[in-house]
Amino acid sequence: MSGRTRGGMLAGVMKTFDAHTHAFPDDLAAHAIARLEADCPWKAIGDGTAGGLLAAMDRAGVARALVCMIATKPSQEENILAFCRRLKSERLLPLASVHPDSENPARRIEQIARAGLRGVKVHPLYQNCAVDDARMDAIYEAAAAHGLLVTVHAGRDVAFGPDDDRAAPRRIADVVRRHPKLTLLATHLGGWQAWDEVEQFLAGPALEAQNLYFELSFCLPCLPPERSRELIRRLGPGRILFGSDWPWADEGEQLAQLRALSLTAAELAAIEHGTADRILGMSGQFQNKPTRRASNGKRPPG
Ligand SMILES: [Zn+2]
Repeated sequence: MSGRTRGGMLAGVMKTFDAHTHAFPDDLAAHAIARLEADCPWKAIGDGTAGGLLAAMDRAGVARALVCMIATKPSQEENILAFCRRLKSERLLPLASVHPDSENPARRIEQIARAGLRGVKVHPLYQNCAVDDARMDAIYEAAAAHGLLVTVHAGRDVAFGPDDDRAAPRRIADVVRRHPKLTLLATHLGGWQAWDEVEQFLAGPALEAQNLYFELSFCLPCLPPERSRELIRRLGPGRILFGSDWPWADEGEQLAQLRALSLTAAELAAIEHGTADRILGMSGQFQNKPTRRASNGKRPPG
């Protein structure tokens, strides 16, 4: 069941991977979006449902996406995990969430791994815990032990003050040094609106051997193209994933901005899908008009 058409030709193949999206249960999405918009200077461009996300992906030619959840209190972990189980599909890869004050982070991470999910998201600002706070360590340790990805909000956040440094690049660098086995994906190129610090603390040979990756959401609209290109090359295209932060921004627009940066074809291929395929063990291809595919439970390792 490879999704191949007769003769082995691949029709309508989409490969692009979006490493940063959000979705909420259908009955909660409108309320969740309204609450988040209240603290945020801009409006969502999508309805925040899984159906809305898939339609946006179809329009932009995006094959697969990580769907990030954020538990703002420990009591939300259970419902988030249940939603992730329902959401999980060939195209949507939900990342569950563990709160730093979780009763038993190791057990929660084990449940998440057993559910076949690929990782968790932590958000130091919404979870009120600096990314390098000792309370986060149990999450990082358990995720590394289970081979799960941890994606972390990086840099500033429009919903919080400009001096809030709980997700600062230098703190992320500390986490990487303390947890060398952890696969860490830092959003917003490692530090939204903290670009100089990204260069100072996250670029260069010191962290190059580590399992540290970056995604691009909300960077290209905020930076001049030359600066985006420079940062991408300083961090290394092989460590960078495309990301949109849908429903807060449009996938198609950010993809167009990425493709207008005059990167090489190899650099673009790495960012659009190669890096994600490698770290998530994906096949790299998805047919956009799949006939019903029986799930044979086969999943690549990772
Ligand atoms: Zn986000």
